This record gives sequence, structure tokens and C-alpha cells, in this order.
Amino acid sequence: MKYIFTLLLILSSNILFAQIDIRQIFENKTEVYFRFEISDQSELDVLTNIISIDNVEKGKTVYAYANISEFEEFLKLKYDFEILPNPSSIIEPEMSNNIEDITAWDVYPTYDAYVNLMNQFQTNYPQICKLIDAGNTVQGRKILFVKISDNVNQREAEPQFMYTSSMHGDELTGYVLMLRLIDSLLSSYGNDPRITNMINNAEIWINPLANPDGAYRSGNNTVSGATRYNFNNYDLNRNFPDPVNGVNPNQQVETTRFRTLQEANNFALIANFHGGAEVVNYPWDTWSNTGTNSRIHADQTWYQFISRLYADTCQFYSPSGYMTYLNNGITNGGAWYVIHGGRQDYTNWYRHGREVTIEISNTKLPPAGQLPSFWEYNKRSFLNYIEHIFYGINGVVTDTVGNPVRAKITIISHDYDSSEVYSDAATGFYSRMIQPGNYTLKFQAPGFFDFISNPVQISSYYSSINFNVEMIPVVPIPVELVSFAANVIDNDVHLEWTTATETNNKGFEIQRSVIPSEARKLSWEIIGFVNGKGTTTEPQRYYFVDKSLINGSYSYRLKQIDFDGSFNLSDEIEVSIESPKTFSLEQNYPNPYNPSTKISWQSPVSSWQTLKVYDILGNDVATLVDEYRKAGSYEVEFNAVETRRGVSLPSGIYFYQLRLVDPSSSSGQNFVETKKMILAK
Ligand SMILES: [Zn+2]
Repeated sequence: MKYIFTLLLILSSNILFAQIDIRQIFENKTEVYFRFEISDQSELDVLTNIISIDNVEKGKTVYAYANISEFEEFLKLKYDFEILPNPSSIIEPEMSNNIEDITAWDVYPTYDAYVNLMNQFQTNYPQICKLIDAGNTVQGRKILFVKISDNVNQREAEPQFMYTSSMHGDELTGYVLMLRLIDSLLSSYGNDPRITNMINNAEIWINPLANPDGAYRSGNNTVSGATRYNFNNYDLNRNFPDPVNGVNPNQQVETTRFRTLQEANNFALIANFHGGAEVVNYPWDTWSNTGTNSRIHADQTWYQFISRLYADTCQFYSPSGYMTYLNNGITNGGAWYVIHGGRQDYTNWYRHGREVTIEISNTKLPPAGQLPSFWEYNKRSFLNYIEHIFYGINGVVTDTVGNPVRAKITIISHDYDSSEVYSDAATGFYSRMIQPGNYTLKFQAPGFFDFISNPVQISSYYSSINFNVEMIPVVPIPVELVSFAANVIDNDVHLEWTTATETNNKGFEIQRSVIPSEARKLSWEIIGFVNGKGTTTEPQRYYFVDKSLINGSYSYRLKQIDFDGSFNLSDEIEVSIESPKTFSLEQNYPNPYNPSTKISWQSPVSSWQTLKVYDILGNDVATLVDEYRKAGSYEVEFNAVETRRGVSLPSGIYFYQLRLVDPSSSSGQNFVETKKMILAK
């Protein structure tokens, strides 16, 4: 049933606006399908951000979808429009929950039968088929892939390919055709050399149903009433990060599932299937390749070739008129109509892969009996399209010991707008499909020198050049110690070292080990860190004092650390600290003296040390030491003219007294001794 509002418009557009009852339009539905006329293509620039444009015929008639809030925005633009029946309400699709019926491929499966069939593929072909659950949808249905490859449980150095269908839940031709493709690939393995080769040398990932909540909007047993949008009423093909608009603030969980999967893998080539037209749509969708603001993909020539091959092959195996829309079955996305947030541009711009959008049937939900015909029209194109991943330049990028390296691979004087590709972090494999020509490749990865290839010649679209690259790591030149020495002064160990030039030097960790120790080599203790000078060509001198020692023998070494965490260890040097065996206070020297003299003493224990000078009347005239010190031999210089108290002492007889108190000794292992000295000016 059609609601036609065009007649009302004759009265006045304002009256029309007032008379539209949006609740009536959305009665029993979450989205509407409608059409209207535009007078200029530039009107689409505004419209594409408001509603979900589905088709633009002859640059004039727009077919679109909207949820209720989108439609309210659309109404403000006051276009004359016509509500159309939702495409999934036109026929009563034939459904089955029986796998035997379904594998005749002329019926739509119920949701449960779909899940069972996907599981059965893995059960029947465990060597080459693995079921991948990419996660749940809004309503808790599953986004399922099968991965088809030899050694299917391993990640091999092979190109990764993806087919995904029906992200618009009411465009379901591709859904059944993808299930049939999975079955055909699996059952042909070992029989058909072409398909066997594909499975042996690639990972083929197939997701038949990207929007199960939309497809089964009316419940798991029918696709009648399927919606384009997901359960939250968002168009998933307007929901991906976009080169112009960035990440969608209302990113849906289905979008997140695909993004997560694509970020964890390195899909070289993808196609996503839709319905409502019969055309292969190549990048960009967010820009047109003609007119003002046009932007042409660096690989447009290659894209046009693979799109043309797909469409022409379909045309050859179908009645006249199939897959002939727009430019005889192919189009640039933006030249048809610009959209933002499509998954095709996401893959191209953000994932550096290649993806086209294939509109596979004019009728979005054709009678199930027509599905075998669409299979006949497309089955050769399905295989041709997969095989593109074997052409062009491909290979493995490793480091010098064979570990995979994720490298950015740019074709000089060709790549721009994110058209460069990357090798896979897990395997090092890369795939660079490209039109015939001579190409120079630049490989770049953090921590490695750039590698630039000699020219590589691709002589045809079916040429394949294997080009493996070994990246040379950028290893910092070790910081070389010119000297490393230790001196014991007052029982402290003074370490000193020098370097010549330095590269990337974060600094030196000082490590100490006790000798003798059974576990000496295992018990290096970190006692300090001295910052390095980074990179410099000037000789550098460093200093560190270890004051925490008691009697014994010690080893020291330096761990020189670069900013990237790599390090070098110095040679070890050994130091002995010997404490005196007995207490003693020596006679000052010289004596008599003028104006200064030296006083030395020894303590076999750590103690509080006080050394004072008194005059002949017993007055305290100077304090030379008053602090805790460890065991050792000490010396101090006393200047009678410039005392620390700022007075100049007269000539005469003085006394100096050393008092040592060991605070840890309960017996008070004390030592007190006084000696006489003469100041003679
Ligand atoms: Zn679509």
C-alpha cells in the first residue's frame, strides 16, 4: 500500500507539512522507504547526512530510508515525497529450518538453521573450515564467519580475503549465495584444482549475514519484514569511521565487531554484497571521482579493471540486462551518490585494504526460487574476484633473523590517500595488487632502516611477483667506556668513568656485588643511576660515590642503557675496604704548627665521632668532627688562624680530644683519648 502525498502538495508545502502525521507513517514500522525528486545533484550533499540514500536514478530520483528521527529532519527540507512499501514486505519469502532443504539453495534459512549450517561446515570440513564467532549483535544474535584455508587453525603467511553480505538486513540475495559459495568451496577442495589452490594459498573469510537483527526483525523464523537498519535503527553502512567525518559518535556494536576483526587481521581484499541495484561500486564513496571536490583513488585503474571483470563475467553468464546498471555495471561510489561512514571506505582508508561494494540484485528480497539464477550469474565472478589477491606484488617482510615485521609499503610516485599497504604483524605477509607498470617499493618500519626496492615490473593484471624483504634493524652504537676506575677515600668508594662519543645513552645503572659470595654473579645489587648525555660526540666524565660500605671486598660494574631499553655491561672492578683492628688517636703533624696541622685516628667500629680542641684552661675552642661515621681511618686538618668559629687562636698549648661512642653496643664500647699540641706563631 502506498501513501501518496504528492496531491496534497498542490495546495501548499506548508499545509503539506502540517498535515503529515509521522506517527501514521511509522505505524508498525521502525524505518520507511520512500522516494523523491531533486533538481540538482548538489542537494545530495545535505541529504546524505540526514537520510540513508539507497539509489539515485538518472541523477534525479532519490530512493532512501529513514528512521523516525531522520525522517523528521528530512521533512524540514520540504521535499515532495512518496512512501513506498518496505522491500521486505512485498513477497512472502519461502523459509526453511531444515538443512537439507536449505542446501538446495532455493529457500531462505531460519536464523537457527543458518547458525546450524555454519556449524555444520566446520564439523564436516574440520581441516579446512573454522567457524569464527565475531561477537553478538544488539539483540544477541551472532556475527559468524567461516575461515577457509588449509592448516585452518594456524595463521600462515598467506593473503587474507573477506566476503561479507547483507549489512543491510533487507538485502538478502547475497546471504544465501554466500552460504552456497562456502558449501561449493569446501566440497570442491581436493577435486577442483583451481579451488584447491585458492584454499591452499589464501585465507578466505566469508560472513553471509552481517546484520542478522535487521534480517530477522520479525523473529528468527522469517526474513519477511526485514529492515535495512540494525535493531537500534542505525544504517550500519553509514556507521564506520569515515575519511571526512571520522569515527561515528553512535558506533553500533555490529560495527565494533567488524572493526575489531579487521584490526586483528590484515585483509588484503574484501567485497561486501548488497541489493537494490546491479552494479559494482568502487572507491571512494565519500568523494566523487568527477566534478569539483573530486578525489580519485590511487588504484582507480585497477579498481575499474576488477569491477569490470566482475560485471562482464556476470553479463556473459546471464540474460541481457543483468549487472548493467550505471556505466554498464560499474560505478565510482561518489559519482553515483556520496555516502559517509561506509565500510568500503573504512577498509580502504583506515585498514589499507581494498574493498568494493557489489549490488547483486535489483530486488532486495527476491522470491527464493530466483536465488539459483543469481548463483549462476555470479559464481564465476565470485572466484575471479577472490583470485585477485594472488596477483600483483606480494611477499613476506622479516627482520634479519626471520621474525615477521609489520612494515608500511609505499609505491613511490603512486601511493597517496592511504593507498599504501602494510605487512601483517603476525606473519609478515603483504599483498599489493596493482595495475601493470614498473614500481619502486619503499618498506618502512620503526626500528629498521628504510628499504627501497629496485623497480619491479608487473606486466599484466594476472602477473604475480614474489618479493620478500629482510629489514635491517637500526642498532644503536654501544657507548664505549674509555676508563672505569674506583678509589677508596675515607672508606667510601669513588667510581669514575669516562666515555668518548655516545649514541642514544639513557644512562648508567651502578651495580655492586659482595665478594666472596657463592651467588656473587646472581646477586648484583642496583645501588644507583647516573643519567647519560643522550647522543653526543664530546667526551663525557661521570662520577658516583658509594658511601654505604663496611669491611669487605666488592665488585662494581656499570649497566649502560639506551633509550630503547637495550644495554651493555662494563667490565667489573674489585675494591677492598679494610677497617682498622684497633682504636688509635695519632699525634698531630706537624707539631708545633702554624697555622694548621693534621690529626688522624682509626676506629674498628662504626661510631659517633667527636673531635674537639680545648685551650689550656679547658675551654672548647673548636669542633672538628661531630657525626656518625662507619669504621675506618680518618684524618682532618685543623687551622688555628681560620677556625670554623671565625676566631684566630693565640700561640700556646692546646689539647685535642677524640670521643668515639658506638650506639649499637650495649656495653658502650667507647673510646676517649686526649693529646697535647703546640701552636707557635
Ligand atoms: Zn545496501
